[in-house]
Amino acid sequence: MICDSHTHSDNSFDAKSSVEEMCRAAISQDLYALTITDHCEAPFIRFGADCEFGCFDELIPKSLEDTTRAAEQFSGKLKVLRGLELGEPVQDSDGAERALSYGEYDFILASVHGLKNMLDFYYLDYTHIDIDDLLKKYFTELCETAEYPHFDSLAHLTYPLRYIILRSGRMPDLSKHSDMIDEIFKILIKNNKALEINVSGLFKELKTTMPDISFVRRFKELGGKYITLGTDAHSADAVGKGLVQGLAVAKEAGFTHYALYENHIPQLIPIDI
Ligand SMILES: [Zn+2]
Ligand SMILES: [Zn+2]
Repeated sequence: MICDSHTHSDNSFDAKSSVEEMCRAAISQDLYALTITDHCEAPFIRFGADCEFGCFDELIPKSLEDTTRAAEQFSGKLKVLRGLELGEPVQDSDGAERALSYGEYDFILASVHGLKNMLDFYYLDYTHIDIDDLLKKYFTELCETAEYPHFDSLAHLTYPLRYIILRSGRMPDLSKHSDMIDEIFKILIKNNKALEINVSGLFKELKTTMPDISFVRRFKELGGKYITLGTDAHSADAVGKGLVQGLAVAKEAGFTHYALYENHIPQLIPIDI
């Protein structure tokens, strides 16, 4: 029973396949469940139709509608679940509240793609940035995000590394931030939240899951109960890709089960690879 709990349909500004195409790809990969988690960046909702990432007031209700229709259409073949990737909820609590009011979700991923009043880590010029300071601010915001009550799993913990390595060619020393990362894990554990293993990094310059096994192991050591697994697919051909490697990381880190969220309730699925 393999589940992909982090995927984007064409209701995300940077993705191109319809929900139906994503579902057909999941069925061809023999997946048990697919959760559509389209982007909604809390600080940008207020810009409405002028937002560079599209109008979330239209995109997210459409994502929920397409996903609900697909759940009926593929019933018996694939479990299709309604998710959301809620970006930067602590930067704009009104925006986050609005995102959550668009409809009923099964699963909310919380993520941080950029710091307040800064561009997404994707766009930054790392040759002119104090990378340690940037990461300190990033993990500080993740600590605050971990305390945010309305999400189920914390997405791609080491997201900035993907772009730091790509643009600067060097791997920052994360040991400087280990206390802060421990703090994030302790908050997640205290609040019964999950940590995501995002496998998209396996196919990028990073070459590891986000986070890598050392962090997944540490989360387990500190008492972490729930992990979720996602490809972060932005097109149908990436659905399911790398999930078995992600499960291997979870297993090596000491997990015997991973979680699939339905109506925000974690269903524990044995890792039998
Ligand atoms: Zn993301
Ligand atoms: Zn994503």
